[in-house]
Amino acid sequence: MRIRLCSLLSILLLAAAAKPQEKKLKIYISADMEGIGGVSTWQVQAAPGAPEYEKFRRLMTQEVNSAISGAFDAGATEVLVSDSHWNAQNIDIELLDHRARLVRAFPRPLAMMQGIDGTFDAVVFIGYHAGEGTPSAILAHTMSSARIFELKLNDNVVPEAGLNAAIAGDFGVPVVFLSGDQTIGQRARELLGPIVTVAVKQATGFYSATMMNPAESQRLIQEGVKRAVEGRKEMKAYRLTHPVKVEVTFKNIVDAELVSELPGVERPRGSTIVFKAHDMIEGSKFLEAVLGMNTFPRNAADSEPKR
Ligand SMILES: [Zn+2]
Repeated sequence: MRIRLCSLLSILLLAAAAKPQEKKLKIYISADMEGIGGVSTWQVQAAPGAPEYEKFRRLMTQEVNSAISGAFDAGATEVLVSDSHWNAQNIDIELLDHRARLVRAFPRPLAMMQGIDGTFDAVVFIGYHAGEGTPSAILAHTMSSARIFELKLNDNVVPEAGLNAAIAGDFGVPVVFLSGDQTIGQRARELLGPIVTVAVKQATGFYSATMMNPAESQRLIQEGVKRAVEGRKEMKAYRLTHPVKVEVTFKNIVDAELVSELPGVERPRGSTIVFKAHDMIEGSKFLEAVLGMNTFPRNAADSEPKR
C-alpha cells in the first residue's frame, strides 16, 4: 500500500512537472477618437461637451472592447489599454471589458504609449487618424492640431501612428493592427509593413466620410485584431536608428523660438527645431514636455488641453 502510494505520488509529481507553463501573451491597445467609426468633427462628436460626445465616447469604448475581445480570441492573457485622445478620459470605465486595464489622463512620459514595455507581444491602434496636411483624411493632425505643422523622425514625416510605433519599436514590440479611415490605414501599411488595417470609414475630406453602422465596425475590428494577433510573428517592430533626430515644425514661429533656447536644441529654420534624442523614450519625453508646457490645468477652473 505504502509503495503504491509512493509511486502514485511520483506519477502525479512527474505529470505536474511535465505540464507546460501557461504562456503569457500581452497586448497593448492605444486608442484615439478621430478614427472611431462615425466620427466626423470635433465640434459634434470628438470633444468633451460636443452634442454627440457622450454617445461617441461610448462607441469608442465599444470599439476598444471589440479589440480586447479579438485579442483574447487570439489567446491574449493580458490587455492594457491607453486612452489617448484629448484629455485621455474618454473611455467609459464602467463599460470597459473587465479583462483589461486602463491608462488614463495626460501628461505622461510615453504619451499615447504609456505603459508599453518589452514584456508586450503586440500593439493595436484603435481610432487612429492621418497626419497634419493629409488630404482625404478625417481630422488629420499630428499630436496638436493647434501647434504642430509637421513631425519628422530621422528625416521622415510621420503621423502619430509612426511616432507611437517607433516608441513600441524601441522595446522590440511590433504594431499588428490599426483602425481608422482608409487613408491612415494605407499610410500605416507603407510605414510599418503588412499590418492588418480596418477602414471603419471612407474619408472624402477633413470632415466628410462615408460611414457604416457601429456594429459593423465593431465586428470588423474584433475579427481583424484576432487575425493580427495570431499573425504577430510575421510583423516587425518599427525600430529607428539611434540617436533619433526629432524635428518639429510649429505653426507658430514663437514656439520654435522658445524651444530653441533649450540646450541641445537646434533651429535650422524659423519655425523648425531639431533635437537629437538618445532613444525614443527620450524623444517622447521631449515632445511631451514641449507640447504639454503651459497647456495643463493646475486649478479646477482652468480649461483642459486637447490633442
Ligand atoms: Zn485624438
